[in-house]
Amino acid sequence: MRLRRLTLLLLTTLALTACSEPLPQVHKARLFTLGTLVDVSVLDRDEATAQKATNIVETELALINTQWHAWRDSPLTKINQQLAQRKKVAIDTSTYRFIKQAQTLATMSNQLFNPAIGSLVGLWGFHSDDTPVGPPPAEAAIEALVKEAPSMANITLTPTTISSSNPAVQLDFGAFGKGYAIDRAIEKLKLAGVENAIVNAGGDLRAIGSKGEHPWRIGIRHPTEAGVIASIETRGDESLFTSGNYERFFDFDGKRYHHIIDPRSGYPATGTLSVTVIHHSAATADAAATALFIAGTQQWQQIARQMGIDEVMLIDRDLTIYMTPQMAARIHIEIDDANIRIVGGQT
Ligand code: ADP
Ligand code: MG
Repeated sequence: MRLRRLTLLLLTTLALTACSEPLPQVHKARLFTLGTLVDVSVLDRDEATAQKATNIVETELALINTQWHAWRDSPLTKINQQLAQRKKVAIDTSTYRFIKQAQTLATMSNQLFNPAIGSLVGLWGFHSDDTPVGPPPAEAAIEALVKEAPSMANITLTPTTISSSNPAVQLDFGAFGKGYAIDRAIEKLKLAGVENAIVNAGGDLRAIGSKGEHPWRIGIRHPTEAGVIASIETRGDESLFTSGNYERFFDFDGKRYHHIIDPRSGYPATGTLSVTVIHHSAATADAAATALFIAGTQQWQQIARQMGIDEVMLIDRDLTIYMTPQMAARIHIEIDDANIRIVGGQT
């Protein structure tokens, strides 16, 4: 009799526990911001926590979008107008932090990541909500802008002001803002107690924790075909960013013109199809993916070293896959007959 009562009690307790503590599940939400679809995945017992997390991400990304929009009227376009008039502009602490980090990354990349070439990006037609259709700009116009050599080295930044010694500097953070926003979103999620999540903006993402018993698994898009070329499992807290020639482009007279501009030539960088990097910080990964895309097969190892990036995959126009040993050690190549070259071996 006593034993039966105990068993019953135990069963009730178990049932109660099961009710109040359902197993954690992956909750997914999709947002449209920063010109791209953003998927937020959160592993949690509670649907409400996932909803709160999605709201945090939405707020952070929207904030960066409004602050740093390169062509719609924004605080950035106001700064740009004044820099063109050689004026010193008052800025707040968060603006200072953002530009400072971009300037540091630009220096580390030998100015291949160059957020001061807004005029060139605009000249190519990429400062538009629509995808441009061409034709490419006149050679003389491109040459004139390249000659003016705007760069982040022209910028003098203090915690309260920004000025430029070169009036050709026009800031465009299209290659960095997304990463910066994702970092901020993840920091806020952690503060809110979220331990397992992914913020994925069109394949550029930062993941924390895991999917429960298994790690988060990410596909990396094939640069010329539908489907994935590789996949990877994230570890702990890391960001994975890819820059590709398929993201924003137009074809004109049988040639592709995409939105990653080589500041040295003024033309879309040639030779690379895509670059994927892994780094703790999403902002660094974003800037580095762009810089290494431009650096190409000749220079990527040097620039990666300078930027502190150990894990890189670069796919060149022949579909040869270049990888650092650190990347090769963990990536799963998902295509047959891949031509892989493992190079580097730094640090
Ligand atoms: P995506 O946003 O597709 O992942 P990127 O991170 O490489 O691609 O960013 C490309 C954007 O960065 C362009 O649309 C433009 O606004 C800007 N940009 C283009 N060339 C450069 C460059 N050399 N340095 C910094 N920003 C660039
Ligand atoms: Mg980038």
